[in-house]
Amino acid sequence: LDANALNFSGGPGVLPARVLEELEEAIRSAPGVGLSILGVSHRSDWFAELVDQTERDLRALLRLPESHAVLFLQGGASLQFSLVPMHLLRSKEQTAEYLRTGYWSAKSISPAHLEGQVRVLWDGEGGGFHRLPRPHELKPAADAAYLHYVSNETVEGLQFHWIPGRDDVIRVCDMSSDFLAYPFDPTRFDLIYAHAQKNLGPAGVTLVLIRRALLERAPADLPAILDYRAHLQARSIYNTPPVFAIYAVSRVLRWLIEEIGDLDRMCERNRRKAERLYSVIDRYPELYRGWAAPEDRSLMNVVFRLATPEREAEFLRQATQAGFSGLQGHRALGGIRASIYNAMTLVAVEQLAEFMEEFAAKG
Ligand code: PMP
Repeated sequence: LDANALNFSGGPGVLPARVLEELEEAIRSAPGVGLSILGVSHRSDWFAELVDQTERDLRALLRLPESHAVLFLQGGASLQFSLVPMHLLRSKEQTAEYLRTGYWSAKSISPAHLEGQVRVLWDGEGGGFHRLPRPHELKPAADAAYLHYVSNETVEGLQFHWIPGRDDVIRVCDMSSDFLAYPFDPTRFDLIYAHAQKNLGPAGVTLVLIRRALLERAPADLPAILDYRAHLQARSIYNTPPVFAIYAVSRVLRWLIEEIGDLDRMCERNRRKAERLYSVIDRYPELYRGWAAPEDRSLMNVVFRLATPEREAEFLRQATQAGFSGLQGHRALGGIRASIYNAMTLVAVEQLAEFMEEFAAKG
């Protein structure tokens, strides 16, 4: 396997080999245009059709109805940390509820304080962010402006395997690190956002799926560039969008549809990958210490520690020598993180699992 296949980075991360080849070709000459994708006008009919086709593929994969709009924005998931409260917390008296389950959800909360009241419905920091809440631990209020949570905590490797919140309160979810990893009912969400650089493509574009009815209630005084409605009206071509990143997303969606099939099969493959790695961790508990509580283990980010920082450094040194990359844990946490996003193959995961077994056998 080549270096790209063994890229376990937390993101930007691995992309399907087929997509990398298509992008290489498109940089020389994009099919149907005859120009480098890097020089195609965002005002061309070709690009407008590309955006439409990408949206159609996404809707087909998710079975997303027209009740929800699809936007292709810039600014990363971090910009959404601000845009969500700017659109949905409409007065200083209203309260938004947040689940504070790890590094990224903690970051999502501060911008909300600028727009209104915030209630942290559950805070995992006391427990060191090793687990997620159980349903009975949450008492979401009926009069909250919305509930926000992160479906997959990328740093800690914690993933919700259920949907928190009430169906009669606006539900907002940052799905940046597990979007399109498994099937789910998108109509139970009022706003979903996900940046591309995990399961969707390169950095540069962020997808927002928003229930259209929410837009009618947003404040009228938002700067247009920060207003979902301006982007919707312009069909995501309000200003110059990241043409290359959107093209890459379109190729990743085609790969998912043509090579994997659908989100059920994607999930099945992701499960097999994750189970393979967690089973090694469980078999060598004296060496590998999984970070997440077993019920909350992520299918995307397998996070573990070794007994000492020296052992971790040695693990990473040997892993690098064996051709793996991106295994270093997030700077906030240390340890090891194997990110196994959609494009990571079973063969590559098998190779990492065997490496971990050999490392354990050597003692
Ligand atoms: N949310 C999650 C779940 C993430 O994993 C990240 C980054 N890895 C972010 C938000 C921040 O994303 P960005 O760098 O695109 O702003």
